[in-house]
Amino acid sequence: MSVYRIKPEISALVDGHCEKLAERFKKIDDIIEYNTSKVISAFANARVGVEHLTGSTGYGHGDLGRDKLEELFADIFATDDAIVRPHIVSGTHAITLALFGVLRPGDEFIAAAGKPYDTFDDVIGLKSKSKYNQGSLIDWGISYKDIDKLPDGRVDVEKLVGSITDKTKLILFQRSKGYDWRPSITITELEDMIKKVKAKKPDVICFVDNCYCEFADTIEPPEIGADIIAGSLIKNPGGGIAPTGGYIAGRADLIEQISYRLTAPGIGRDGGATLDVNRLFYQGLFNAPSMVGSALKGMILTASVFRELGYDVEPPVNADRADIIQAIKLGSQEKMERFCKSLQEISPVESYLKPVAEVVPGYHDRVIMAAGTFVEGSTIELSADGPMREPYAVYMQGGLSFAQIKLAIKHIASQL
Ligand SMILES: *Cc1c(COP(=O)(O)O)cnc(C)c1O
Repeated sequence: MSVYRIKPEISALVDGHCEKLAERFKKIDDIIEYNTSKVISAFANARVGVEHLTGSTGYGHGDLGRDKLEELFADIFATDDAIVRPHIVSGTHAITLALFGVLRPGDEFIAAAGKPYDTFDDVIGLKSKSKYNQGSLIDWGISYKDIDKLPDGRVDVEKLVGSITDKTKLILFQRSKGYDWRPSITITELEDMIKKVKAKKPDVICFVDNCYCEFADTIEPPEIGADIIAGSLIKNPGGGIAPTGGYIAGRADLIEQISYRLTAPGIGRDGGATLDVNRLFYQGLFNAPSMVGSALKGMILTASVFRELGYDVEPPVNADRADIIQAIKLGSQEKMERFCKSLQEISPVESYLKPVAEVVPGYHDRVIMAAGTFVEGSTIELSADGPMREPYAVYMQGGLSFAQIKLAIKHIASQL
């Protein structure tokens, strides 16, 4: 028997929006088919066999599955090379690893889309010093600046180009909005930005934080000039099956430098036991285009319904989507709590917990997180979170089953 308190008029409203969005969903199906073909072709070209699905122990020398998987990521994301490891703890760690891998004392790096995602305050060294944030990029003599966004939240490309100096080694483009209220960066916009910064300084490294954007479009950033991309395996490319991990893909020389930071100079990528995760990584990657597509449909439906209920949503229903995030401006702490509690109730695991805003390592505002997920904190599974600060917005994402997302929308809207 259903334990959900769904109002009949809300249920009818959501079903109606679903029907209205049929054309839009058809376009997502085309993206899913294209990306699935890309992924399966890569598996076939790389001749993936059962011998690749097992792992290694100890030093992890000669791990066939690990090496083949990295080949697959490089092929799918159109790069020379890739590092895909369970030892990468999170998206923050993957991006941090890449920054420390390529930047050297005296270099400068620029964040193109304003201050990066919250967890980078300590990585860069932007907050006052404490025992929790030692060894930041600034500590290592790397300088940093970020470019204020335009009033509409888009990247100020002219200002970005104007701020490049001889010392500028790398530009970080964060595509997804994080906890900002701004449009995510589409492939078309990114292509234009990369072209313009490379025209000013051809050897500047264009590094794309690709979190939540993998497989949301048919083109990935390296195809339009990005030198490195990075992300988390408990987001899109793990397909809801990878139990942990992260990836970095890019130019061969940069991936090599990063590999020495991953393990140790001299060892690089040749070490690193995968234990029993290889099969899960392959299976997750295979699933990823479908999971991302299903999540995209769910977030478009969310935007459509919550807009009708009177809330500001970002992106708007009809916008081109660069990622699987749907932000909803709720306007109060109380509504954020109610939203997250309702979402938690419709989750398969720990549905009985009530999310509360708490201090989370790496974040400076209290954050509330609803994620009743099989993999702890996985946000390719249906989840919602947000910092307790103006404008009191929740960021909803993921969903391994479209039916679950639809039910969640009905349940949450009934409780608000
Ligand atoms: C999720 C995310 C990250 C990394 O977050 P983790 O929780 O450390 O995996 C980085 N940048 C953006 C834009 C993100 O959305």
